Amino acid sequence: MEAPSDFEIASGVLKIDLGALGRNYLALKHLCGPAEVAAVVKADAYGLGAEPVARTLRSFGCRRFFVALPEEGRKLRPSVPDAQIYVLSGPRSAGVWPLLHAHDLIPVLNSTADIESCRQFAPDRLPVAIHVDTGMNRLGLTPSEALEFLTANSASREIDVQLLMSHLACADEPSHPLNQTQQREFMRLAQAFPDIDTSLANSAGIMLGSDYTGKITRPGIALYGGLDLPGLAPVATALARILQIRKGRAGSTVGYGGAAGLNRDTRIAVAGLGYADGLHRAASGAGIPARADRSEGAFGYVGGRRAPLLGRISMDLTAFDITDLGPDAVRVGDFIEMFGPNIGIAEFARSAKTIPYEILTGVGRRYHRVYPGGNVEARPNGQDEGAIRASNLVFGRRSAPAR
Ligand SMILES: *Cc1c(COP(=O)(O)O)cnc(C)c1O
Repeated sequence: MEAPSDFEIASGVLKIDLGALGRNYLALKHLCGPAEVAAVVKADAYGLGAEPVARTLRSFGCRRFFVALPEEGRKLRPSVPDAQIYVLSGPRSAGVWPLLHAHDLIPVLNSTADIESCRQFAPDRLPVAIHVDTGMNRLGLTPSEALEFLTANSASREIDVQLLMSHLACADEPSHPLNQTQQREFMRLAQAFPDIDTSLANSAGIMLGSDYTGKITRPGIALYGGLDLPGLAPVATALARILQIRKGRAGSTVGYGGAAGLNRDTRIAVAGLGYADGLHRAASGAGIPARADRSEGAFGYVGGRRAPLLGRISMDLTAFDITDLGPDAVRVGDFIEMFGPNIGIAEFARSAKTIPYEILTGVGRRYHRVYPGGNVEARPNGQDEGAIRASNLVFGRRSAPAR
């Protein structure tokens, strides 16, 4: 007998729609108007595969990419040989400079110590970005440190500063006063150095409006369909294979802890994905503390309907109540959608009391990954762009949960 294919073996399938990714990029580009749209592809493009994601976005016109770590930049470089790659965590130690240089990576300098390291160890004229912290207290120079350095440097031209950036702490809460404070602080600094490119907005920052877009925007989650906005399509679909269908008698229980009591005879579909695959246990149907104040857990989507998750999610297995689906609607071997076009990733994340970011970056290694359509490239003659102009993405309409 022939060896089974990866697909036959897999209990979970992760579909990544590169066409939808490209269209999301164009929709954001359209919304950002004159601002250039870069792409944040850190953490393996939020779990979806940095290389295919970046190649696709490059073909849709993206020329700048942001990663978190030097190592991510090194791996990404062959996929986008002619693009700029920024490393958000900066040089971190003196030994990193040769790696940055060898792969043509642009470090983001986040402190005066980073600037000093650049002076001492950077190969000649290696371009850098400067990160100014305008109110998040995470990474970045203080505004006065940045002002002092940039003023001195614009006279000496000692360091080749390509980009000035900052990051918003509360962009997903449009009315939060910190947004305006950060925007003003950033623009004040940016206006003092008009020949340096500027970047402020992440995905949610873009939605705050054109005051926030600066010269270059840096969306991540919006590209990957995690913002739950009309005009942005889902990109990732997680499918769990149904391994068994069984009858549970009224009065019996399902799964660990006997947490889900059955009050009727129940058809149960047992699917082959669990928390080891990133289906957070917090999304369980019952039997975990988070459910005490929420009656329902997550749903799966199968046979054209939603099926409630039953009991606790275990490491490799998850049970669903399919009683209300027709007797032939679901068979062993079918796939049940955990998130995707029918159950938004934002909804799945809410049922696990977390955010789409954590769901995507946590999808785990056991999925069989498929990129339907293979190598997707932008269609010629602006056909994609035409479709995007007709889409309904607009500033200021958001429904994703606050972080
Ligand atoms: C992760 C990150 C982004 C992208 O954020 P999204 O909310 O995914 O759009 C942008 N800028 C910085 C500095 C980041 O760390």
